[in-house]
Amino acid sequence: MKTAGCYSCRMQATIALFDIDGTLLRAGGAGRRAVERALEDLLGETLGKMSLEAVEFAGRTDPWIVRQALIHHGVAPDEGLIAEVLRLYVDYLPDELERASAFEVLPGVRALLEILITRDDTCLGLGTGNTEAAAYAKLRRGEIDSFFAFGGFGSDHLDRAELLRVGFERARGLSAAAAHRVVVIGDTPHDVVAAHAIGAECIAVSTGWYDSASLEAAGANHVVADLEDPSVLDAITGSLAISKDV
Ligand SMILES: [Mg+2]
Repeated sequence: MKTAGCYSCRMQATIALFDIDGTLLRAGGAGRRAVERALEDLLGETLGKMSLEAVEFAGRTDPWIVRQALIHHGVAPDEGLIAEVLRLYVDYLPDELERASAFEVLPGVRALLEILITRDDTCLGLGTGNTEAAAYAKLRRGEIDSFFAFGGFGSDHLDRAELLRVGFERARGLSAAAAHRVVVIGDTPHDVVAAHAIGAECIAVSTGWYDSASLEAAGANHVVADLEDPSVLDAITGSLAISKDV
């Protein structure tokens, strides 16, 4: 396998920024349970057992999720407390991932990454709401961590568009190409909106919480049922023209 990175000196390279949860893999509820354990460690004495069933996770960043969880339980979302919850969450996550019997790398993912990593016109990165440590813990569990040398993460910014921008800047730092086109691959309307906010295209996959109709309605440039779809590779690399009507 080629070392992950961007070495293209072509006129234009594609920067592909992959979401993780619902796009590359399903963590089988491990993230939610790790956040609950972290919150219980810090606040369980006063609040008892914590349930985050009412807090939306899909398409959200880790700091946003913790912030909402604290508000949901009537706790002021102090930045120091959020950082402490995230630190404990990352400690618990590998154990929860190991125990998650429903964990799976989604169809077509490994084969697609194995092709993309060999292409010198494509920079393979992450655009995920997970903190960097949480992102690599999940990818490691699925044995797909070595495909990704960089990304934009929930630990870079609370806002999804801003973390994508960070991922884009990191890719530019690794790439010798004169120009770049950015493609975000995600599973929620939040991925679509954030991609468009930075001028990127979005390929949406309905292996997460949202069906194809919702992703089309959100304005995704190309929608597929899963990453086994043969059109995905061409849509990422730019040899298949995808809708710009957004
Ligand atoms: Mg997702």
